[in-house]
Amino acid sequence: MTMDKRPLHEVDGPRYHAVMLVGPPGVGKGTQGKMLAQIPGIFHVSSGDMFRELNTNSKFGQIFQQYAGVGKLVPDDITIKIWQDYMARKVREGVYTPERDLLILDGIPRNITQAALIAPCVKIFKIIFMVCEDREVMFKRIRGRSLKENRIDDAEEVVVRYRWDLYKRYTEPLIDHYPQDLIRIIDADNIASDVLHQILSVIVPIQKKHFIPPLM
Ligand code: ADP
Repeated sequence: MTMDKRPLHEVDGPRYHAVMLVGPPGVGKGTQGKMLAQIPGIFHVSSGDMFRELNTNSKFGQIFQQYAGVGKLVPDDITIKIWQDYMARKVREGVYTPERDLLILDGIPRNITQAALIAPCVKIFKIIFMVCEDREVMFKRIRGRSLKENRIDDAEEVVVRYRWDLYKRYTEPLIDHYPQDLIRIIDADNIASDVLHQILSVIVPIQKKHFIPPLM
């Protein structure tokens, strides 16, 4: 019999250790994600950015354009395949070290099917549920973003409202899908630094407890 020489964290269970960000389009997830990504010991994955990085001439790039252009979600099996390849590549490139870096999942899983598909390889420490009661505030933010970032899926009001409905129907139910002690509600109707402060109060203790101190 050969001994398994892999490090313990790979043998004992899920490979990636994560905190999930969940919230409707325009709630400020992207802004928070970008700030979190700057922190040593955090690896932030935005599924939207992951898709936008695909070569637009590639097969998957074309599929993404086709769905995102009308505000639809990319099919689950394709999404998870792209995500798995992306994660493996980031580990290979040394950009993400699972035992050192807390993974922040932003935009994925997007529904319960995706949650089930990633479950074998991701341990979820906490789910940060960003809440903003005022829908119009979020629609206004999205309109501003479409002008600034030239995003195909933000330009049309009808597409924005459709994405909102998709979120309510398929993504928000994730909050009931996971054990309730994992959920942390964050009031996102606040200045960005305040929201960041709330998120850090969840993340910092996890980083300290479960990860090797980051290289700086
Ligand atoms: P938003 O959070 O504003 O909806 P994202 O940047 O997260 O925007 O996503 C942009 C587009 O990328 C989505 O409309 C969808 O087509 C695709 N997408 C992103 N994440 C996923 C996912 N987890 N599953 C399927 N499609 C996704």
